[in-house]
Amino acid sequence: MITKVRSHLSQNEPLLFEISSPGKQGYQLPELDVPEVDPAAALGAAYVRSEIEGFPEVSEVDAIRHFTRLSTWNYAIDLGLYPLGSCTMKYNPRINEQVARTEGLAWIHPYQAESLAQGAMEILASLERALLEITGMEAITLQPAAGAHGELTGMMLVRAMLEARGNPRRTVIVPDSAHGTNPATVRMAGYEIANIASNDQGMIDIAALERMVTEDTAALMLTNPNTVGIFEVHIREIAAILHARGAQLYMDGANMNALAGIARPGDFGVDVMHLNLHKTFSTPHGGGGPGSGPVAVKQHLEAFLPKPRLAKDGSQWRWNYNRPQSIGRVRAFYGNFGVLVRALAYIQAHGGPGLKAATMDALLNANYLRKLLEPHYQIAYPAPSMHECVFSDSRQAARGVSTGAIAKRLIDYGFHPYTVNFPLIVHGALMIEPTETEGKRELDAFAEALIAIAQEVEQQPALVLEAPHSTRVSRVDETGAARNPVLKFTART
Ligand SMILES: *Cc1c(COP(=O)(O)O)cnc(C)c1O
Repeated sequence: MITKVRSHLSQNEPLLFEISSPGKQGYQLPELDVPEVDPAAALGAAYVRSEIEGFPEVSEVDAIRHFTRLSTWNYAIDLGLYPLGSCTMKYNPRINEQVARTEGLAWIHPYQAESLAQGAMEILASLERALLEITGMEAITLQPAAGAHGELTGMMLVRAMLEARGNPRRTVIVPDSAHGTNPATVRMAGYEIANIASNDQGMIDIAALERMVTEDTAALMLTNPNTVGIFEVHIREIAAILHARGAQLYMDGANMNALAGIARPGDFGVDVMHLNLHKTFSTPHGGGGPGSGPVAVKQHLEAFLPKPRLAKDGSQWRWNYNRPQSIGRVRAFYGNFGVLVRALAYIQAHGGPGLKAATMDALLNANYLRKLLEPHYQIAYPAPSMHECVFSDSRQAARGVSTGAIAKRLIDYGFHPYTVNFPLIVHGALMIEPTETEGKRELDAFAEALIAIAQEVEQQPALVLEAPHSTRVSRVDETGAARNPVLKFTART
C-alpha cells in the first residue's frame, strides 16, 4: 500500500530512521583471519559503545540518496539570489576554489620548516600588501579567523596601545545601529559600552558625538557603510573629534565590498579595522565554516599586532617572534590559510580596476532594487544606499503583516529571505543586499516576488500570514524551539 507520495523533487523525504530496515548494511568486510577478541576485554568496557536503540540500518545507496535529496532542500547561492543583508552572500567564482585546492597549497603543513614554506609565506606577504593597498592602512595581521575575532583583536590592540601610553581608558562608543558583535567585542575587551543614537539620516549625530567623547573614551566602533547601508559622510570629522581627545577610530570593515577600489579607510582617518575575507573576498560562508578577519592598523598600533610577523632576510621569508609589545597569538598557526589563498586569487584575478567594477556593481544592484521596491515598501532613510537597502514594514504592518511573515512568504516564491528585523533602529526591517554577482534577470525576479507579496498583503493578507505553503514544515514555534530544543530522536510510533 502506498502511504505517501514520494517524489524525488518534493520535500517528502522520510527520516533515515523511517527507511531503516533490520539487517541492512552499507559495508562489507572480509572474513576475520585473526582470532576474534572481546573489545571490552581488550579496550576496557568504558571505551566500547553499547548498542544504540533504533539505530538506522540502511544500505549504501539508501544513505547516499537520502543525504543527496536532503542537500537539495538547502537554499544555496548556487541556486539563486541570497539577499541576506549585512552578510554579503555573494557567488564565489570556482576558480578561487581551484587555486586553494592546488596540491602544494592544500597539503602544506603549518609545521613545515620555513625554508620549505617560502611559497606559502610569499602568498601571505602578497595578500598583506594587497589588503593594505585596498584599505590604505599601514600594517596588517592575517591571524584572526572571523570578523568578530578580528574585532576582538583590534580592540585588544587599542587597549595595549593606550595602556602603553599610560591609561587604557574606560569606554567605547557604539552606535545603536551596530552589528551585534560590536558591543559583545567591547565587553570582551574589558570596556564599557556608550551607546550613541543615529540621527534621522541614519548616521552618527556629530553634535552628540562631540559631547560624548572624553578623556575616558578609548574608541568609537563604527561600521562604514553602516548597517543601514549608508555611508557616514562626516567620517573625517568623526575621526578628528576622536583624535583630538586621544581616542581611536575602529572601523568594522565587513561592508568593504561597498568601498573596495573607491575609498580607503586609511585615507579617511581610520586607525584600526577588520575585514571579512569570507564576505568580501571570495570564501563561501554561512555554514560556520572557516573564515578570516584580518586586522589592519596605522603605524602607531603596529608594535602590538599578534605574533609571529612575517619578516624578510635578503630573499628569505621567516617568522619573527621577537615582538615584545605584541598582544601575543590570537590563533594557532598563521590564520586560515586556505581562505587567505582564495582571497589573494580573487584580488589578483580582478586587479584594481576589476575590484572597483565589482564595487560599482554592488552599489548599482542595491540601488536598482531600491528603485523597484520603493513604490511598495517604505525605505528606512532617504540617504542614498550603498551596497544594501533597508526598508521598514510600516505599510504592511498597518494591515497586520510583519517583515517576518513577508520573509516566510518569499520562500514560496523560491528565494531565501532577506535579513529580518535588523538593524533594530528600523521598525520591522527588511534588509536586502543583492551583491554584485547578481544579474538583472535575477534582481527583476526577486523584485517581482516582493511586489507580488506587497499586493497579497493588500488583497489577501491571510495568504502571507500563513506562509510558507510550499515547505514540508510551515510555521514552527521559534521561541519554543529556542527555549526547549529537542535534541534527541525518539522513534515515531
Ligand atoms: C558579519 C559581520 C560581522 C561579524 O563577522 P563574523 O565573521 O560573522 O564574525 C561584524 N560586523 C558586521 C557589520 C558584519 O556584517
